[in-house]
This record gives sequence, C-alpha cells and structure tokens, in this order.
Amino acid sequence: MSTMQATTVSCPHCGRTNRVPVAAEGRPKCGHCKQPLPWMVDAGDDDFTEVAERAGLPVVVDLWATWCGPCRMVSPALEKVATDLAGRIKLVRVDVDKNPGLSRRFEVQAVPTLLILDRGETVARQAGAAPAPALRQWVEQSITARKGRSG
Ligand SMILES: [Zn+2]
Repeated sequence: MSTMQATTVSCPHCGRTNRVPVAAEGRPKCGHCKQPLPWMVDAGDDDFTEVAERAGLPVVVDLWATWCGPCRMVSPALEKVATDLAGRIKLVRVDVDKNPGLSRRFEVQAVPTLLILDRGETVARQAGAAPAPALRQWVEQSITARKGRSG
C-alpha cells in the first residue's frame, strides 16, 4: 500500500474526477480520456524538495499567506494558468506563515511572490498581483526561454 499523498482534480476535458499524486515521475493524465491534467498541489518545508525540486516539468511556486488580499486574486488566476498549461507546468502553493524555512530560503519580502523552478533552479521570479493573462504570458515566456537555452 502506498502512503503517497494525493489530491483530486476534475479533468477539464471530460469532467471526470481523478486522483493525482502530490509528487510523481512524469506528468498526470486523465484515467478516462488520457488528456494531461492540471497539477496543483500544496507543499511546505518538509516536502518541497520532493514535490517541487524533483518534478520533471517546470514548477510555478505560489508563495502566499492567508491574510494577503492580492493572494486571493492571484491564486485562482494561477489555477487557471495551470489548467490552460496542463501537462507543461506544475503549480505548487506554499503558505509562507506555516513554512518559515522556504520563506527564508527564497527571501520572501512580499506576498504573493511567484517563482518558476526548473529542476530546483529558480529561472524567474516576480512579486505582486497580476491578472491571469499576464501571469500566463510570464509563465510561458519563462519556460520557453528555458527550453531554448538548454537546447
Ligand atoms: Zn478526461
């Protein structure tokens, strides 16, 4: 029996509910229609390495806080981006108040702070709120530029 943590997500293509592991090799696909599924998980000081740094695809990290007004706008916008870019990115949410280690490590001065990690390396970073289309453009540019550089 696996004790691996999982989350559930509705497939944007067929509507079926799928269980998606928090950390896994590869990228999740719908068990019904085989389309890539949005991958949106929470992580913290204890499991960030496994969930975010070892992911086989670019990771968008949302460093947020419960008391942060703009975060309540950015988090759903990022979920939309993760849905639009299913199979291309993984969205990892980190509550900075519960995870002081990550907050220190990434020198978070303001929330939300957004990072794009590629195999543990920070390739892009921005702070503050932005609407979904702007976030999507930022994410796509960051992951495309990365791909270009690595050949
Ligand atoms: Zn499906």
